[in-house]
Amino acid sequence: MNQLNQKEMMRNCPNCGGINIGRLHKNSYFCSDCYVEVAITRKNDIYLHIHSEDGGIIRKIKLE
Ligand SMILES: [Zn+2]
Repeated sequence: MNQLNQKEMMRNCPNCGGINIGRLHKNSYFCSDCYVEVAITRKNDIYLHIHSEDGGIIRKIKLE
């Protein structure tokens, strides 16, 4: 997994590698392929929020 610069636009989902990832908020993205929200903190930590199809968060994973 690559560490991502906060200023860079994320183009591929770090979970599935898909390109159907769009900006959700200022520092978060959402992949419509695997229903994963990618949240980037001020410290540049990246968290994956795994969503179920109905939109609930079922798991949070911190990327190293
Ligand atoms: Zn994905």
